[in-house]
Amino acid sequence: MTASIVTSPRRIERLVSGQRTSDGAGVKLTRVLTQELQQRLDPFLMLDAFGSDQADDYLAGFPDHPHRGFETVTYMIAGRMRHRDSAGNEGLLENGGMQWMTAGRGVIHSELPEQEEGLMEGFQLWLNLPASRKMQAPWYRDFKAKELPKTRTASGAQVTVIAGQCSGTPGAVQREQTQPLYLDIELQPGSLFEQPIPPEHNAFIYVYRGQVELGGQTVPTQKMALLRNEPDRDGVCVRADRPSRLLLIAGQPLHEPIVQYGPFVMNTRKEIYQAMADYQAGRLAL
Ligand code: FE
Repeated sequence: MTASIVTSPRRIERLVSGQRTSDGAGVKLTRVLTQELQQRLDPFLMLDAFGSDQADDYLAGFPDHPHRGFETVTYMIAGRMRHRDSAGNEGLLENGGMQWMTAGRGVIHSELPEQEEGLMEGFQLWLNLPASRKMQAPWYRDFKAKELPKTRTASGAQVTVIAGQCSGTPGAVQREQTQPLYLDIELQPGSLFEQPIPPEHNAFIYVYRGQVELGGQTVPTQKMALLRNEPDRDGVCVRADRPSRLLLIAGQPLHEPIVQYGPFVMNTRKEIYQAMADYQAGRLAL
């Protein structure tokens, strides 16, 4: 029997269903973290879940479009997506792989499916940059599934560590100011997962297979559970009575103004106008 890592687990603030929408050139997806939750879940700006075996739902992809002021993390569960950007980067994202892109002062990129049938499933998370880093040089890296750190906990959870740290295993990416934690957790019937999280960090889970129990409440598949911040709660504890998979995402809030216009996320309206002017003048991604 292993000692508990978390002595007083967080409770659920509320469950969120997300909104069915489409983006890019008509890709059908569920926006799990919508704009209304940006303040509450600072430093996270958006989470999209896409998953379909109907080619018409994803074939159009995301042709050339700009970003400025934040980072995008694309995690592919199944399928193949080709990325090309104005910084000269190109990569194929597939089955279990992850792409981390820091747009910084500006990137123009395309994200296009490289399959005409079969399942395409994955997630795109937007992580804000602190004001002091919004105009940094763009950065990009692709991680194949086998390059992503994985760990198996004593309590039987299989975890892919995309960012942050899990039971001593450092994730693929670390960020000093936002301290993002991004875990993909696989649970078997009867298994349990615990993760310490500082109380002031904003945190949520998204269940995408099976269902889990957290703080005495059931979180069904395709639901996000927003977790309360309480000073005496030192982490998260999740159990499953059936095979289940979920994302656990947490980070240190920036407490800075958030002004979003489509693919630009800055701190002031003036900076948004500047981003639009730069894009129109062809200066965004220079
Ligand atoms: Fe994009």
